[in-house]
Amino acid sequence: MNLDTITEVKRPVSLDDVGPWRSNYAWLAGGTWLYSEPQIATDTLIDLDAFGWQPLGATSKGLEIAATCRVADLHAFAGPEEWRAVPLFRQCIDAFLMSFKIWNAATIGGNVVMSLPAGAMISLTAALEGVCTLWPRDAEPRTLPVVDFVTGNHKNVLRPGELLRSIHLPASALTKRHAMRQMSLTRLGRSAALIVGTVDGDGRNFLLTVTAATPRPVQLRFDRMPTTTELRQAIDERLSPEDYFQDVHGSAAYKRHITYHFAEQIRAELA
Ligand SMILES: Cc1cc2nc3c(=O)[nH]c(=O)nc-3n(C[C@H](O)[C@H](O)[C@H](O)COP(=O)(O)OP(=O)(O)OC[C@H]3O[C@@H](n4cnc5c(N)ncnc54)[C@H](O)[C@@H]3O)c2cc1C
Repeated sequence: MNLDTITEVKRPVSLDDVGPWRSNYAWLAGGTWLYSEPQIATDTLIDLDAFGWQPLGATSKGLEIAATCRVADLHAFAGPEEWRAVPLFRQCIDAFLMSFKIWNAATIGGNVVMSLPAGAMISLTAALEGVCTLWPRDAEPRTLPVVDFVTGNHKNVLRPGELLRSIHLPASALTKRHAMRQMSLTRLGRSAALIVGTVDGDGRNFLLTVTAATPRPVQLRFDRMPTTTELRQAIDERLSPEDYFQDVHGSAAYKRHITYHFAEQIRAELA
C-alpha cells in the first residue's frame, strides 16, 4: 500500500540523528504492518535498517536478537548442540500466519512491538525467558522481561519514541527441554492458543507460557513438575474465564478449553 500521508523517510545511522521525537513519527522495521493499512497519524517514517545492528549474536550467556532481525534469519539459526530449545524457534515461526513478504521482511522486534495476542515471536521469546532492552528517548536504556513488555491486546510498555533495541534469550532457558502446542480454527489461521512448556534437564523449574488464548502472555512457574490437578488449579488461580481473549479466531470459552487441554499434554510430555 502507498502511504499517502508520509512526507519523509529518515534513515539515521545513530539515535542522535533522529532529533526530538514528534507524535507523527513512527519507527519503520519490516514495514509489513505499517504498509498494510493507512497510517493517518504518521507523516514521517524512521527506518531502523541503517542502524546496522547485527541480527543475531550468540555467546556463552545466551542469544542476543536485534529488534531488526528478520523472521527468516531466526528460522535459519542453528545454535550450539546444548541449546536444546532452538527447534522451538522454527516451531513458533511456523505457527505464524505468514505471507512471503512477512517471512522475508518482518522483524522480531516489529512482531513483539505489535503486541498482538497471537504474536508468535512474543510466544517464543516469552517462553524462553527473553529480556527486552529498550532505548527510551531521553533516559538510560532499560530492561524488562518480554512477558511484562506486552500489557494487553496491541498494548505494551513503550513510551513515545522509545525503541525496542533487542531481546536476550538466556542460555539457561535455551538449554531447557520444551514442548509446544498450537491451535488455529482455520488452516494457516491465526493462533487461538500457542502454549509452551520448558523444564530443566533434571525435571525442575517447569515454566508454562500461555499465549494467543489470552490478550497478553501469562506464565506459571513450578519448582517441580506439577500433577494434573495441581496444574489445573494453578491455571484456574491465575486465569478466570473472563481473562481469555475472545475474537473471531475463537471464543474465550474455546480458548480456555484448549488451554487446559494443551497444558496437560505439555505437562505429560515433559514429565
Ligand atoms: C495480513 C496480516 C496478517 C497478520 N497476521 C499475524 C498473525 O497471525 N500473528 C502475528 O503475530 N502477526 C500477524 N501480523 C502482523 C505481523 O506480525 C506484522 O506485520 C509484523 O510482525 C510486523 O513486523 P515488521 O518488522 O514488518 O514491523 P513494522 O510494520 O515495520 O512495524 C510494526 C509496528 O511496530 C513499530 N516498531 C517496529 N519495530 C520497532 C522497534 N524496534 N521499536 C519500537 N517500535 C517498533 C512500528 O513503528 C509499527 O508501529 C499480520 C500482519 C498482516 C498485514
